Amino acid sequence: MNEAILDHVKHEGHNIYTFWFRPEKKIDQIAGQFIEVHVPHTNPDSRGIRRWFTISSSSTTKELLSITTKMADKNGSSFKIALRAMAKGHKLKISDPMGDFVLPKDDSIPLVFIAGGIGITPFHSMITYLKDKQEKRNIQLFYGARELDELVFANELKQFEGLDFIPVIQNAPTNFKGQTGFLDSKKILEQIKDKRNARVYISGPEPMVEKFKKEFEELGINKNNLVCDYFPGYN
Ligand SMILES: Cc1cc2nc3c(=O)[nH]c(=O)nc-3n(C[C@H](O)[C@H](O)[C@H](O)COP(=O)(O)OP(=O)(O)OC[C@H]3O[C@@H](n4cnc5c(N)ncnc54)[C@H](O)[C@@H]3O)c2cc1C
Repeated sequence: MNEAILDHVKHEGHNIYTFWFRPEKKIDQIAGQFIEVHVPHTNPDSRGIRRWFTISSSSTTKELLSITTKMADKNGSSFKIALRAMAKGHKLKISDPMGDFVLPKDDSIPLVFIAGGIGITPFHSMITYLKDKQEKRNIQLFYGARELDELVFANELKQFEGLDFIPVIQNAPTNFKGQTGFLDSKKILEQIKDKRNARVYISGPEPMVEKFKKEFEELGINKNNLVCDYFPGYN
């Protein structure tokens, strides 16, 4: 485990916060990977004192590393309450990064990113990395959120050249110009430009990712072209 200090917290949208940490030693991260975060606190609930979080920042941001998470509207865990209450300078433990939800080495592969809500975190890391490295990739990002103010990182993401940014909002305001309703596998498939070669990355709450994986397979997307990142614990 590595020691890290809470540097600052940023409010991103409705109940969504980014926690910026300063690790004691350099952490080697590949964009899209996750860490385990330990937050010891008094009277933890049955869900305990550890959680996995995707690193929402990129290794191109020197000295700091971030996670971004959503606080529950009700029945939030003691873990998240303790995390939110943490003062600047608080010390905590984080694991080394792990996971293979990362960009393919071959930069000619067209990429389709599908994010359900807070599932945007690995894509934010990858896109920040590509932008900072001035690497171009062909990416379509379908980003579903309940409300417009839960569409975090939208302004930053939109500025990435080569990214086709497609927000899909459930409760969209009447003047919203984009797509509305729920993310829908059939509709997404219709919009994928290179269905045969696209590598489709799906990230979000576990039931959503399971559903999309199954539907895309049924719709004929090759299993080897589906890459999934499941966030358990959201219902
Ligand atoms: C590889 C990986 C990467 C991840 N990356 C992220 C990330 O980038 N950002 C992120 O936010 N999460 C991420 N997660 C999920 C994260 O680890 C937590 O599971 C999630 O944030 C839910 O946190 P929580 O359990 O503290 O619940 P809360 O956020 O406090 O609550 C979530 C909801 O679940 C309900 N709930 C769930 N379990 C119970 C229970 N046992 N009793 C009562 N109510 C319950 C709550 O009422 C609430 O509505 C990731 C998980 C994995 C495995």
